Amino acid sequence: MRTLIEEGRIKERIKQLAAQISSDFDGHEVLLVGVLKGAVVFMADLVRELKCPCTIDFMAVSSYGMSTHSSGVVRIIKDLDHSIEGKHVILVEDIVDTGLTLDYLCGVLRSRKPATLKVCVLLDKPSRRKIPVKVDYTGFQIPDEFVIGYGLDYQELYRQLPYVAVLENGGSH
Ligand code: 5GP
Repeated sequence: MRTLIEEGRIKERIKQLAAQISSDFDGHEVLLVGVLKGAVVFMADLVRELKCPCTIDFMAVSSYGMSTHSSGVVRIIKDLDHSIEGKHVILVEDIVDTGLTLDYLCGVLRSRKPATLKVCVLLDKPSRRKIPVKVDYTGFQIPDEFVIGYGLDYQELYRQLPYVAVLENGGSH
């Protein structure tokens, strides 16, 4: 395992992202929508740095398997608890890779008529993109390597690491 982004750098970057979001929404109420499970750690740290009033909700999705996943079809396993109509929504994801998951989720959320919809991701692997997605707030751009930690897993393990690491010898996708 090799550390890619140290704990201190993540903390610092989240403060900057939160300052940017707080200033963009300028006191308006914001609804953070986290995608389970990977975004939990990032969202927990992000929400505590926000200055605007905010509520949180979660969705869980799973792909139908690799072949269908590559066509962008994902299944909603857990939907939001409340309507997002008329709300300022920020979709919070751990990582954007091909973009298929975010593209699908943005489509679903947009159809529910939020006042605004923004996307915030901790990590971005731009070289892997299959569909262009507009990401409004990005923590770090990373190379095409399989990463774990800070919410990201390999076979459900390593989510609790306070830093982001590259899992060498395994975890290829
Ligand atoms: P996309 O639909 O953008 O290809 O995939 C996004 C999802 O793939 C992420 O939410 C995450 O679950 C998974 N993923 C993509 N790259 C990585 C990675 O490097 N490490 C881990 N743990 N998950 C990844």
